[in-house]
Amino acid sequence: MQRYPFAYEPKQSFVQQVSDWVADVFYEILPESGFEVRDEQIYMAFQLERAYADKQTIFAEAGVGTGKTLVYLLYAICYARYTRKPAIIACADESLIEQLVKPEGDVAKLARHLGLTIDARLGKSPDQYLCLNKLEASRIQEDDSDLFQDIYAELPGFVNLPEALQSFYPYGDRRQYAHLNDEQWSKVSWDSFQDCLVCDKRHRCGQTLSRDHYRKSADLIICSHDFYMEHVWTYEARKREGQLPLLPEHSSVVFDEGHLLEAAAQKALTYKLKHDVFESIMTRLLQGEIREKLAVLIEEVIEQSDLLFLLLERHSRSVPGSNRKEIHHHEELLHAVLRFKAILASIEEELVFESGLHTLDEYQLRIVEEHIEMIQLALGIFMQSSQVVSWVLEEADGIMLVIMPRKVKELLSERVFSQRMPIVFSSATLAVHGSFDYIADNLGILSYLSFSVASPYDYANQMQVVVPHQASADHDFAGKMDAALRLLRATEGSALLLFPSREEMLRFRQAAAIHPAYAGMRMEYEGDREISHLISSFQNDVQSILCAYTLWEGLDVPGPALMNVIIWSLPFPPNDPVFSAMRQDAEHPFEQVDLPYMLLRLRQGMGRLIRSKDDSGIVAILDSRVHTHDTIRSKVKEVLPADVVWKQSIEELDPIVT
Ligand code: SF4
Repeated sequence: MQRYPFAYEPKQSFVQQVSDWVADVFYEILPESGFEVRDEQIYMAFQLERAYADKQTIFAEAGVGTGKTLVYLLYAICYARYTRKPAIIACADESLIEQLVKPEGDVAKLARHLGLTIDARLGKSPDQYLCLNKLEASRIQEDDSDLFQDIYAELPGFVNLPEALQSFYPYGDRRQYAHLNDEQWSKVSWDSFQDCLVCDKRHRCGQTLSRDHYRKSADLIICSHDFYMEHVWTYEARKREGQLPLLPEHSSVVFDEGHLLEAAAQKALTYKLKHDVFESIMTRLLQGEIREKLAVLIEEVIEQSDLLFLLLERHSRSVPGSNRKEIHHHEELLHAVLRFKAILASIEEELVFESGLHTLDEYQLRIVEEHIEMIQLALGIFMQSSQVVSWVLEEADGIMLVIMPRKVKELLSERVFSQRMPIVFSSATLAVHGSFDYIADNLGILSYLSFSVASPYDYANQMQVVVPHQASADHDFAGKMDAALRLLRATEGSALLLFPSREEMLRFRQAAAIHPAYAGMRMEYEGDREISHLISSFQNDVQSILCAYTLWEGLDVPGPALMNVIIWSLPFPPNDPVFSAMRQDAEHPFEQVDLPYMLLRLRQGMGRLIRSKDDSGIVAILDSRVHTHDTIRSKVKEVLPADVVWKQSIEELDPIVT
């Protein structure tokens, strides 16, 4: 493989040479291949040159249709080859990383039109892989064990053979099990309570094999924000344990949909505690020859853990629109936490003695010590409720305590943004009122470059917006069902219905299932199948209707399959513990937390409609608050693309050409 796509001159600045080549690509090579190159794209290319030359962070705000992905890929690939370290492209979620490498995706386009061989590999999150241990348990215990027996029967032969693996063989990826719904998948997929370090199947596990594979990429490793943050937070601990970091040394990072990075950073820094897992880790110690004092303490701490989780259940309450239960920091609960921590501290002391006696397996001992250390740290911060947000999740096998820090900026600043490395934030929505200071401050970025370019699309002629007056009252659910029906008929399907929460989507689903007029429509629901299969089936079945609650961002379906985006309700954040904590910190919670969150998501949601210059269609908002609440109305108007006027009834819409 030729190292660079241009003749490299070592005596000249490398980045300057890349920039010259990128100019050739956009002025000559791509137009000659029939590509429509936009001025905004060329402008962005010159801006990125500064970030790569100075190894700086840059906020690249570029409207929908700018073609920003092609620009950052060119720089990232060349720079990876120059430094001999891959670039990381971090996308907002797992479905987006698939979109980048699909046959008609941007990586394949560049390879085809520029004659490049691009080594792009996916670094998927662990929960995208089958866990052999969970599969083993589910195929015996679960009601639908036939389903899991079939998965077991189809595992590659080497999984159950003793011989060493000769070459990489990918398997166990969520995509291979597209027919499983999310609930079925959760019974066999990796979760954070699996202890891969001590698992005897790890050398044959699809997750471990894929990790070895993507680490060797020469050009690009494409992963999710969550996975990148997991890499950052676990970097030191993995090195201490003698493991390789999740991602290899890299030359640059692109955060696509970069406005979502802070949420991913918080998510990756959360601690999750569960009684069953704690019990199984502690009982490992009882299998060795240990002194009676330690054995008694272990029994005691398991009992205390049981009590603690009972109290958590007692002192937490459900929140509508969220699966996160709010915890009341009751005195009884705090007392139980302190008692639990005290017993753990005594165990820690005893383990120091025990390790001197060499009666316990050293490896097991280290794992237990690390877990205790993590629990002590997590519960320590749980007690300082002003520093953290915590909640309870109810799962089929018991409840889980989740503890998340309120602010991550100090850590991000130290571990990510203090490095001298080109870091690109790419999104259509990064600035707040024209300034990037808000996002920079939240992420701990002290100095940065930035630019904004508008979308090249003619929204006034391509997009119609309707907020139907007569049928959008929140209390009038039947009215919304009727409005949605008329809109779906206007485009003969080809629609995306966006809901603010899974709960709202399920309510709609129940109603549509018994509504005779919806009977003949081809509805697809998020969660029924693996997400990238769901998206590609929506794209290929032009008249189908996709109902989703997480696809406000990133979904890229140009052409006739998506001519109608129906926003069921404005995407305000739920009243869950995370947003309650943000509201508590704000002087004007509605203006500082709820409204900006809703407007950003709304902009993203509306952005799903026009994905090419030939697209046209409708955005409909079925939420009466646009009519009844002055601030909401004026703010929603502000985020509509320039020159788009909204209509007040479906009858006012111009005919849609399907
Ligand atoms: S290595 Fe981890 S994911 Fe794989 S089988 Fe073992 S515990 Fe499960």
